[in-house]
Amino acid sequence: MNILFFGPNGSGKGTQGALMKQKFNLAHIESGAIFREHIGKGTELGRQAKAYIDRGDLVPDAITIPMVLETLKHNGAKGWLLDGFPRNVFQAEKLWEAMQASGFTLDYVVEILLPRETAGKRIMGRRICEADTNHPNNIHIAPIQPENGRCRVCGCKLSARSDDQDEKAVNKRHDIYYDDKNGTLAAARFFKVLAAQGKCRYIEVDGEGDISAVKEKLLTELA
Ligand code: AMP
Repeated sequence: MNILFFGPNGSGKGTQGALMKQKFNLAHIESGAIFREHIGKGTELGRQAKAYIDRGDLVPDAITIPMVLETLKHNGAKGWLLDGFPRNVFQAEKLWEAMQASGFTLDYVVEILLPRETAGKRIMGRRICEADTNHPNNIHIAPIQPENGRCRVCGCKLSARSDDQDEKAVNKRHDIYYDDKNGTLAAARFFKVLAAQGKCRYIEVDGEGDISAVKEKLLTELA
């Protein structure tokens, strides 16, 4: 099963992606996480991407597209859930071309719907567990608040991503996401049109619900 996951930063996309990955035994491919791994390892790609990420800008397509398509190729056999890509129409077109060329099917496209204001508040409250980035912790969401300042799942140390705490960078990321002309919502619409042609199923989920409500809805739709 191959799934594309759309949702603004702060919509719980990463959390739900991790749950779906577990449930359906998929490779969870997150473009942002791949970049952070490169930055952590000090690779040339990471060095090139860092300034864009710190500002909340998109990393140029010439760097991002080959990196993601290469990762998909390596995970083709297992089935994947792709999160954070595509973020503009050009990336959507290139992804669809590559999928057709390599014979990948696209089973589902999921869009988590969340108003921009709510997404902004959530993103600034997000805390990252040192041991496992999939452990959900957010100081603004009651059911997943950290415990005594530490990860609510495993008790490890938490930190905040610097691009989550920079209001300007958060705004820029949301400008890109909510842009339905050329940005990420436009990329999502590209797949909505394909869904209307019967080429995949498009599922919209209300992201205002709590984690388990969103999860249940997804499990029902993806079954
Ligand atoms: P995320 O973890 O999804 O919030 O991504 C963090 C940052 O990585 C973004 O703000 C961008 O700078 C960069 N990034 C992630 N995915 C993409 C993409 N598909 N295209 C361009 N830049 C990306």
